[in-house]
Amino acid sequence: MKIAVASGKGGTGKTTISALLAYAADNAQYIDCDAEEPNGHLFLKPKIEKTVSYTELVPKINEDICTFCGKCADACVYKALVIMGSPLNKTMFFPDLCHSCGACAYVCPVENALVEVEREVGEFKFGKAGHIDFVMGSLNIGEASATQLIINLKKHIDETKTVILDSPPGTSCTVVETLYGVDFVVLVTEPTPFGLNDLRLSVELVRNMNLPFGIIVNKNEEGNNLIEDYAKEENIEILYRLPYSKKIASNYSKGNLPFDEYKDDFKGVLKIIKERV
Ligand code: SF4
Ligand code: SF4
Repeated sequence: MKIAVASGKGGTGKTTISALLAYAADNAQYIDCDAEEPNGHLFLKPKIEKTVSYTELVPKINEDICTFCGKCADACVYKALVIMGSPLNKTMFFPDLCHSCGACAYVCPVENALVEVEREVGEFKFGKAGHIDFVMGSLNIGEASATQLIINLKKHIDETKTVILDSPPGTSCTVVETLYGVDFVVLVTEPTPFGLNDLRLSVELVRNMNLPFGIIVNKNEEGNNLIEDYAKEENIEILYRLPYSKKIASNYSKGNLPFDEYKDDFKGVLKIIKERV
């Protein structure tokens, strides 16, 4: 079973919930897909067993044999290539825009004028956090997009396990890529007007992707019915309410989560999700 944990914005407790779910599962794999700012390791404290460099294929043009026909640039929907023909006879490549799709290499009619070369954009780490298989992808500082990295990181999903995918925040391509193909999405939110606004955007996204989902309210306060009312109105199930607690907040700031205290509760959440899938 693959469960993605997402939120409309950062700082809502998405990683807290991901880590608590992974801890509660008997046979868990936690994958940190929040590659621009992975922080699951701060709480799960895994023993890293292997680090591998993550590279993507990008084009390299040999201007000595290129005819400057422009076919590669025409094929690039991401506008990562600019070809200036005669009299300039120059090429320009913008790596930040490149999605490593390979189209430019496919259409180039001149042998070896455009070859694909590896470019390091991040790294993957693999390890163990107690009984949890830990996988993390991180993008190098200054890299523009983690979309391809997430596609490749997800190739390490172990289908025999309860897989918790800690998604990037928001509703961008990287989130879509993380959610693609999962069995269930947990949307984490806080009972504030900002939280509700971002939750609405996330709900729209998962509904468009036709994925089953439910809400976990973090920092829940008795008497605050903001999320409850919205969920009732939209007929969305609230899977769990993690109470607001000074003790949790203070431990969180030290990188500690109340794993054992909430283990049974999150086992209950996993049971509900299993029934819904
Ligand atoms: S398609 Fe090949 S030959 Fe044409 S401009 Fe691009 S690299 Fe040069
Ligand atoms: S690999 Fe794809 S995205 Fe990158 S430059 Fe070539 S066509 Fe454009």
